[in-house]
Amino acid sequence: MHINQLALKNYRNYEQMQLTFDDKVNVIIGENAQGKTNLMEAIYVLAFAKSHRTPRDKELVQWEKEYAKIEGNVTKRNRSFPLEIIISSKGKKAKLNHLEQRRLSDYIGAMNVVMFAPEDLNLVKGSPQVRRRFIDMEIGQIQPTYIYHLVQYQKIVKQRNHLLKSLQRKQQTDRTMLQVLTEQLIEHAAFIIEKRFTFLELLRKWADPIHQGISRGIERLEINYQGTIEVSEDSNREKITSMYQQRFAEVEDKEIERGTTLVGPHRDDLLFLVNGKDVQTYGSQGQQRTTALSLKLAEIELIYNEVGEYPILLLDDVLSELDDFRQSHLLNTIQGKVQTFVSTTSVDGIKHETLEKAELFHIENGK
Ligand code: ATP
Ligand code: MG
Repeated sequence: MHINQLALKNYRNYEQMQLTFDDKVNVIIGENAQGKTNLMEAIYVLAFAKSHRTPRDKELVQWEKEYAKIEGNVTKRNRSFPLEIIISSKGKKAKLNHLEQRRLSDYIGAMNVVMFAPEDLNLVKGSPQVRRRFIDMEIGQIQPTYIYHLVQYQKIVKQRNHLLKSLQRKQQTDRTMLQVLTEQLIEHAAFIIEKRFTFLELLRKWADPIHQGISRGIERLEINYQGTIEVSEDSNREKITSMYQQRFAEVEDKEIERGTTLVGPHRDDLLFLVNGKDVQTYGSQGQQRTTALSLKLAEIELIYNEVGEYPILLLDDVLSELDDFRQSHLLNTIQGKVQTFVSTTSVDGIKHETLEKAELFHIENGK
């Protein structure tokens, strides 16, 4: 799949811009603070209706302006269709084929994007939240119903935490409502966990061989799921449900004591092991970067297998940070098959032949 056209209005430092892209490689060149990341971000927002850098939509609207608009034309399975995102103080509109989609889960997934940026090192080094976000976004874009369950789940966690606090302060003593919420929570939790397990199985299938390739065959990558229930990954939803029921019953008193939900997918984490050792704790900078890169490349293959087309790849400021071997490994992997956007301050650090045929865009001050 590829994005043919992009039009921006009042988006960050772009007042108005229209671009036509190459369906293979596009290189965005510009000095610092000219708008390279903003451009990549706009493509990302068009896919996810959400930025990769900020949870606050209003930051995307140009200062002093009322609204921001991103329009794109995407080709997928030989069909072209328009996508549109409008952000204003009144909220956010997402249009697919000119029709507004009320539920984001009906919008996300129309266009598939994989972004690799320097902050993706946080996938390995950062907090569990970063890894949960990674796994949730990736499943969400291949299975939009996952987002629906996730949103419902998060709402119930909030409600439940509120209730646990009032039980903690003894403003309330009856636990009936808590048990009702727990049941509802478990229903979504079991769905989420089941999907995460299926996704991980696929991710592992791709990530380990890719990691071996980038590390010249010396390193193996393992991914472990760290959950709040002990359940094997081939368990079905019934089994997961009953494990949650048991666990919630065990921790109920403790949850009231603490005033918060202690069990569930919002507390889970992923553990990456390189040659059997936790790469977050023991890995070198290079090993951590390779791990993050392997995960991103695995995602590309995974989406291809699930969706039937390669996603659009955004490489923001990362090529020049990779050594020659990893750079060419990355570019060889995507060569010809994945529409790619590469941003860089100078083409000097980028040697690969793929880039010689690329379309170049010079960005200066949002133009
Ligand atoms: P670098 O090479 O340093 O990563 P970049 O080209 O990626 O630079 P961007 O992150 O795209 O730079 O940012 C370009 C400019 O956009 C910054 O100077 C920033 O101040 C400006 N900017 C960010 N948000 C807004 C906004 N809402 N309205 C107007 N300008 C903004
Ligand atoms: Mg940047």
